[in-house]
Amino acid sequence: MSSGAPRGQGQEIRLSRGASLSDFADKINANPGSLVQEMFNLGEMVTATQSCSDDTLLLLGEHLGFTVSIVSPEDEDRELLAQFNIDLDAAVDESRLVTRPPVVTVMGHVDHGKTKLLDAIRKTNVVAGEAGGITQHIGAYQVHYEHNGEDRAITFLDTPGHEAFTAMRARGAQVTDIVILVVAADDGVMPQTVEALNHAKAAEVPIVVAVNKVDKPDANPDKVRQQLTDYGLLAEEYGGDTMFVNVAAKPGIGIDELLEAVLLTADASLELTAPIDGPAQGAVVESHLDKGRGAVSTVLVQKGTLRAGDSIVAGGAHGRVRAMLDENGNTVAEAFPARPVLVLGLTSVPGAGDTFLAAEEDRTVRQIAEQRQARRRAASFANSRTRATLENLMEQLKEGEKTSLTLVIKGDSSGSVEALEDALFKIEIPDEIQLKVIHRGVGAITESDVNLASASSDATATIIGFNVRASNKVKDMADRANVEIRYYSVIYQAIEEIEAALKGLLKPEYEEVELGTAEIREVFRSSKIGLIAGCLVRTGLIRRNAKARILRDGTVVAENVTISSLRRFKDDATEVREGFECGLTLSGFGSPQVGDVIETFEMREKPRA
Ligand code: GDP
Repeated sequence: MSSGAPRGQGQEIRLSRGASLSDFADKINANPGSLVQEMFNLGEMVTATQSCSDDTLLLLGEHLGFTVSIVSPEDEDRELLAQFNIDLDAAVDESRLVTRPPVVTVMGHVDHGKTKLLDAIRKTNVVAGEAGGITQHIGAYQVHYEHNGEDRAITFLDTPGHEAFTAMRARGAQVTDIVILVVAADDGVMPQTVEALNHAKAAEVPIVVAVNKVDKPDANPDKVRQQLTDYGLLAEEYGGDTMFVNVAAKPGIGIDELLEAVLLTADASLELTAPIDGPAQGAVVESHLDKGRGAVSTVLVQKGTLRAGDSIVAGGAHGRVRAMLDENGNTVAEAFPARPVLVLGLTSVPGAGDTFLAAEEDRTVRQIAEQRQARRRAASFANSRTRATLENLMEQLKEGEKTSLTLVIKGDSSGSVEALEDALFKIEIPDEIQLKVIHRGVGAITESDVNLASASSDATATIIGFNVRASNKVKDMADRANVEIRYYSVIYQAIEEIEAALKGLLKPEYEEVELGTAEIREVFRSSKIGLIAGCLVRTGLIRRNAKARILRDGTVVAENVTISSLRRFKDDATEVREGFECGLTLSGFGSPQVGDVIETFEMREKPRA
């Protein structure tokens, strides 16, 4: 049984979540191979470099006589930032604190009027002369209200729903100062009312109750007050300290009183100050990948001042703030605490609730982002892994076939990725087959996705690209690693094919065969022909009349494009090969830009398997 691994006598070792046996071996001065052997003896097949679950690390520690403590990602992040001399909790100069607006989240039972209320509040604040009022959907907005003769701002997070609130808290972002609990006066306290209340209490956030729909004939606002006493919310008029305001969001009644109540509650129970000096810190409220603008994130500044041109890191994304916009679409040069802004310029899409911070140097933010990405990969890998025990390995061998389909899903927005994943898990599949998604994310397919897919424990994972693509380099890497990448732009088509694959019925018909790719180097306008793209053929060949799609930063920006004319120097050409320059026109795509990649293909009948 002994295999040469050293034994401990209860010594403590610290391992980060998702550590591998090699990492473990480093800590105890052992040979990684001996730990692989130990795990094998314990009935688990684990390779030296694969990332392990918490259970595996604890089990092995116990077996060898070490006390393993697994370091949480938050602690680890703190340690990581310390390497760059960044201390988020550093004391601030009290004399430089400014009063900041409260940040409010609206919660409540479905259909009680959260969306209508957010709309109504937004409308009270239509700036004179700005006919449309708030035009840009940025996931958060700020309104101004005159209170005791003073102009006060209030920031609203425009993401109703408890998920957003809890997701943010789960990621360590305490963003909300006050919760407005919406309860419909004609319906009373309902299950999600209680849920919302519990979330707010857990976060220790004061509550203002908006008793909504008081315009309805069957409204009974007093009953709502009565009901909520059971949950520890006693209205001020009954001697308690919670403000209840009767409103009707649809006709817009009581909105001023509600804003008043929010400010009174903020002033009574909260110390709303923040340092205005120093690099900005805050949290990501929402983000998505925009076809034209790249990663677009709404962030809320919590400390310091964010300026256009700052280098920031948000979760695993980093970049330089190219532009900041407010909810009216106006450019903002400086964002102070509690100001939500739309930020353009990040290299990838951070998640809601990720914290962000600005740093002096590009290099710092890049390094922090890279290290965080590496850690997250390791951690998500550890969590998604089901144990590869000897038993199920044997079973698989007996059956002589793949019993699970493992996927990595990448898409152009978190919404589409979630929708696809949800739909996939609704497919009815035979019991003996397992469907697993080991990673999902927004953005182009990257090297790390391929790494993850090829390192998957039980079967090489297939990568699904929904409206996103892999670069040639990544494609080559996938080919070498035998990782299949499938592209889709319509959800039901993806579902159909995966369903068919799961049922072993996938009948190949036509397949797309890539002919080649070209990169746009220059765009000129000709009065006769329109826009001409000057290109360099990067791979394969470009053929006149071939079908094409256009990629920008790894994302498909146009489908169903045709190479309508093709020239080499002054002559028409039928094809141009790799390494040569050409000029071409595209039908079906009117806005070529330098750097766009044209991917051409033809449809060929696929041989039946
Ligand atoms: P949410 O699910 O909480 O976001 O609820 P919505 O804002 O979508 O509102 C649900 C329904 O209630 C919609 O049909 C609204 O028009 C209606 N509603 C919301 N507020 C009021 C109100 O103050 N009075 C009346 N009569 N109807 C309202």
